Amino acid sequence: MKIDKLIKEAKEELGELFAYYDEVALFNQEKVLNAFRNNRVALRHFSGTNGYGYDDIGRDTLNKVYASAFGTEDAIVSPSFANGTHTIATCLYGLLRPGDTLVSLSGMPYDTLQEVILGESNGSLKDYGVSFDKIDLTDKGGFDFDAIKERLQKPHTLLFVQRSRGYSWRDAFLIENIKELVLFVRQFSDAPIVMDNCYGEFTQKQEPTEVGVDVVMGSLIKNPGGGLAPTGGYIAGKKDLIEKISYRLTVPGIGMEVGSYEMGYRLFYQGLFLAPHVTVQAVKAALTYSAVFRKLGYDALPRSGQKCGDIICSIKFDTAEQLIAFVQSVQGASPIDSYVTPYPWDMPGYAHQVIMAAGTFVQGASIELSADSPIKAPYIAYVQGGLTYEHALIALKDCLARICHN
Ligand SMILES: *Cc1c(COP(=O)(O)O)cnc(C)c1O
Repeated sequence: MKIDKLIKEAKEELGELFAYYDEVALFNQEKVLNAFRNNRVALRHFSGTNGYGYDDIGRDTLNKVYASAFGTEDAIVSPSFANGTHTIATCLYGLLRPGDTLVSLSGMPYDTLQEVILGESNGSLKDYGVSFDKIDLTDKGGFDFDAIKERLQKPHTLLFVQRSRGYSWRDAFLIENIKELVLFVRQFSDAPIVMDNCYGEFTQKQEPTEVGVDVVMGSLIKNPGGGLAPTGGYIAGKKDLIEKISYRLTVPGIGMEVGSYEMGYRLFYQGLFLAPHVTVQAVKAALTYSAVFRKLGYDALPRSGQKCGDIICSIKFDTAEQLIAFVQSVQGASPIDSYVTPYPWDMPGYAHQVIMAAGTFVQGASIELSADSPIKAPYIAYVQGGLTYEHALIALKDCLARICHN
């Protein structure tokens, strides 16, 4: 039948790239395994603690394992981070002081950070006297090196980069792009470079911190949680910067010395261990979705045969109805709440209504197969995740059956 043929063709075309991604998974699996071995992870690290959590070796060792995996001096991994936005905001509040200037080199940061940076009388960075400036990306979605060079002649304290696409029509930055950016910036500035690494972890053999980015951060219900971490975020980077950030995680003077978690951290360890494999399952899913939808005449990213810096496939639909039908069919192919029909709603932190399919074991986890889109033209669906490639394929077939019959 037509749908099976389409998928088969797409998979054949992607064969070479899939072989490369098998290599990426193998490489990163070894990197993560070594992080466990070098930090002598043992059963006792899974025991929970309560109260202040002084000397919680489960927590402290998990921080070290993350630091090893991201090639950094130190890291904070915490279930106290409510989501990715909270994690990124903690980094920014930790490193910026009144009178400082934050400069984004990748245009406007992710939607939910806009209130954090520019909100009025809500405790935003702006309220605390931190200025913000941004250099938009070029029309092709690349860094605007001329504008960056010019901006770096003026005062700036902290440089911010978002790796993944967010809700814009571009691909995520590859490590190659990030390395080029860092080398370029370092000709003109010593200011720390921090990166929103959401969705980027383990998509390539190196992390941004291995090519000169000072701090990376992200959500544990995306790639690095491996589908098992129940909540939380991580921040990894240079020791002095992580220390400053830790004073925002808890309080100045105490930082990472406290914080208990009675559940214990086993799922965070186990999720990180699975993350290299699971991430590549999701990358393969994104590549397949994109190839198949392009065969059907839709515009989709990533383009054919192209490496990915995140796990997302963006598909441009002609109408809001098509977009909604697609997202609803992803929900219908989910293991949890498959019988529920999602509708657009006013999701906290977003300017437009958003529709989200997340029939997931961990609520809203987008390393699990999920789709979301703001309801605005052009009608782009962002589909990502898939704990197994097989699940993503089954869902793709369902979506196609529905769309082809419409
Ligand atoms: C997911 C994401 C965030 C954080 O989102 P939360 O919903 O708060 O976890 C930030 N930046 C990017 C690029 C993201 O994809």
